[in-house]
Amino acid sequence: MRHVVIVGGGISGLAAAFFLRDAGVRVCVLEGSPRLGGKLAVSEIAGVAVDEGAEALLVTRPEGVGLIGDLGLRLVAAGTTSAAIWTRQTMRPLPRRQFMGVPSDMGELAASGVVSPDGVARAERDLDLPATERDGDVSVADYVSARLGREVVDRLVDPLLGGVYAGLSAELSFDATLPALAAASRRHRSLAEAAGSLLPPPAAPASPARPVFSTLPGGLGTLPDILAKESGATVRTGAMVRELARTGQGWRLTVGSAAAPERIDADAVILAVPARPAGRLLAGVPGASAAVTAFGEFGYASMAIVTLAYRRSAFPELPAGSGYLVPAVDGHAVKAVTFSTVKWPHLLNTDLVDQSDPRDPIDIVRCSVGRVGEEALLQRDDADLAGLAAADLAAATGVQGAPLATRVTRWGGALPQYTVGHLERVARIRAAIADLPGLAVCGAAYDGVGIPACIATARAAADQVRATQAVLSNGLCQPGHGVARNAG
Ligand SMILES: Cc1cc2nc3c(=O)[nH]c(=O)nc-3n(C[C@H](O)[C@H](O)[C@H](O)COP(=O)(O)OP(=O)(O)OC[C@H]3O[C@@H](n4cnc5c(N)ncnc54)[C@H](O)[C@@H]3O)c2cc1C
Repeated sequence: MRHVVIVGGGISGLAAAFFLRDAGVRVCVLEGSPRLGGKLAVSEIAGVAVDEGAEALLVTRPEGVGLIGDLGLRLVAAGTTSAAIWTRQTMRPLPRRQFMGVPSDMGELAASGVVSPDGVARAERDLDLPATERDGDVSVADYVSARLGREVVDRLVDPLLGGVYAGLSAELSFDATLPALAAASRRHRSLAEAAGSLLPPPAAPASPARPVFSTLPGGLGTLPDILAKESGATVRTGAMVRELARTGQGWRLTVGSAAAPERIDADAVILAVPARPAGRLLAGVPGASAAVTAFGEFGYASMAIVTLAYRRSAFPELPAGSGYLVPAVDGHAVKAVTFSTVKWPHLLNTDLVDQSDPRDPIDIVRCSVGRVGEEALLQRDDADLAGLAAADLAAATGVQGAPLATRVTRWGGALPQYTVGHLERVARIRAAIADLPGLAVCGAAYDGVGIPACIATARAAADQVRATQAVLSNGLCQPGHGVARNAG
């Protein structure tokens, strides 16, 4: 039976393994770290299982919901659809009629107070300005500020993009990070109208907006192990792939230390790793140099999630929405906050919650720290970061006293930066990979960092492997089962 090796046991690699479960091939997933899941992980804080990484699944795309359905799992919807912006020291509602921060309703923008009256007046000029010419890819900030002014970029678009990419709108590609809006902007002279064309019709007051996010009852961090089991693949952790080479009939991977390398032969390989390891693994592969160069052009943002637990009575007012974003121009360490127990009410109801005082439940708050270029901030120790996050939260919400519990999760090289030129970079990678039979790539580096986008690339990689079953080599993945071990 043909042998497919998937390098990387994050959501992308594991989803690819799952999509190959009935392909009539033997599949092996090699994960370098001691645990599966990559950016998906869950652990307990104050007795509640809370995600440490990704926590929300977008349900308006079919890929994530479809995979969860295939696994027979149940999703729970977010308990609220509202969110806020903490800007100029005031909590203000995030306008509903906006697309990734680009407002479509100037009246609502003015009422929100997120931008100043001058900022609203400048944004309104979008409706009359002639078309904004652009030659090729541009940054989000360049295009949006030309249409709607700098304040809309700084106070709305940048915080929303920062929440997804931990990146800066001055660097991120309009075509790659907001593809639907970029396409609509080619059909509409006004960017506000382009944004409006992508929004559902305004909900009648009696029909509240439907949540676009959901999660798994035990956290999205429970998904990797379930996927691994249901894929039927051989899954190994602590199996860092150090080299990839072409053989006459397929591929040979080297796992383990230089002193005791283990060789694994495969008919096909899926690289489900971030850009840098993908580039390193392809460095010695003839014909891959264009992909290696393109992978080398990727930047990554590091970040940390500081999770804090408080008694509800510590808050002067119960937070009403799912959380708030913080514009970088305001100079705070925390860039986004999720009120986890408000966004996911089931976290309050779980048996795991400390029941010592049910009238005063424990609220969990996730604070996201670190934008691209803020690595120095992340060099602080855990206690420092937790203190910084708690102080920011107190300034924004008035929460009293120290948290009951804290947890700091560091995500080094967490999010690929889709900077200007990203689509062309990815096209170069895909063209080079297409010339290497039996090789496919998937993951967050290509068509979107969200889980559904990662799953879509995993499906495409699995389909590509199915379609290129030309090579017939045989190897086994389990140590001691036909794997060539040698010392050189
Ligand atoms: C803090 C945080 C919060 C997020 N929140 C959300 C959210 O709420 N919703 C959402 O949709 N998305 C969210 N995202 C984005 C999303 O989680 C990621 O983009 C996605 O999980 C990436 O999956 P992946 O499998 O492509 O890559 P990864 O998760 O990075 O997995 C790649 C795996 O490859 C392994 N690896 C690397 N090199 C090798 C090698 N040489 N050999 C073997 N293994 C190797 C790594 O150890 C890793 O486990 C969030 C991301 C972060 C960091």
